[in-house]
Amino acid sequence: MAKRKSFDEKSKGMHKSHKLIIDTVFGREDNTQRVFGYEKSEDTTKREVGDRWVDGDGKEWEQKDGFKVSVSQMDDVRQFLQKLSTCHSENCETKQYSRADKKLIVKTGYCIVCLAKLEAKLKADGTYPFYEDYKITLNKLGFIRDFKQKCEDSLNSLKKDFQMVTEDGRIENWTWEVDIDQVKKDLQSDIDNSYESIELLLERRKVLEEKLLELNHPELIKK
Ligand SMILES: [Zn+2]
Repeated sequence: MAKRKSFDEKSKGMHKSHKLIIDTVFGREDNTQRVFGYEKSEDTTKREVGDRWVDGDGKEWEQKDGFKVSVSQMDDVRQFLQKLSTCHSENCETKQYSRADKKLIVKTGYCIVCLAKLEAKLKADGTYPFYEDYKITLNKLGFIRDFKQKCEDSLNSLKKDFQMVTEDGRIENWTWEVDIDQVKKDLQSDIDNSYESIELLLERRKVLEEKLLELNHPELIKK
């Protein structure tokens, strides 16, 4: 009778990522790290949270609680957040944003006073209806794209039988008591309809952007 193979012997022919998962799950010492590119000699200096240093490649890092981030990466994030939370108006006079200001800036780019001024101006020069239509069109577009994505994800992962791992680690087989073909058909039809709506909305967005340009308001067009 053949000798039972040890895990390590058996795992020799196993796909690397598969083995890594098993090693991680069972807490095995992973001796294949080299293969995965983690070989790079680790900087062993002890860092305090908030410490900054420059590595061998000239990249600057900051120690966070439990992980490190590159400083330029953080600056980008900071800059992005800063932009998100600052009124876009060139002549904004609001010194301190209220909670309502902050909410509105995230949503529209403007604080309460500046948005009111902007909208009054747009009403006076006749742009407002197009501006409002444009905003609604963009919202709808975002919503339908999300919806279509969710339908596609569901369709791709839809199976009649699936396995569940219970809390105590047992594997149970489940069968879904629905007409799976009908569900698939419904999802596919939702996806097809979404495509159609997206096309129409893109067309509408284009027309409205042209109109906003014609009315001399390129700043209202969302990139
Ligand atoms: Zn403002």
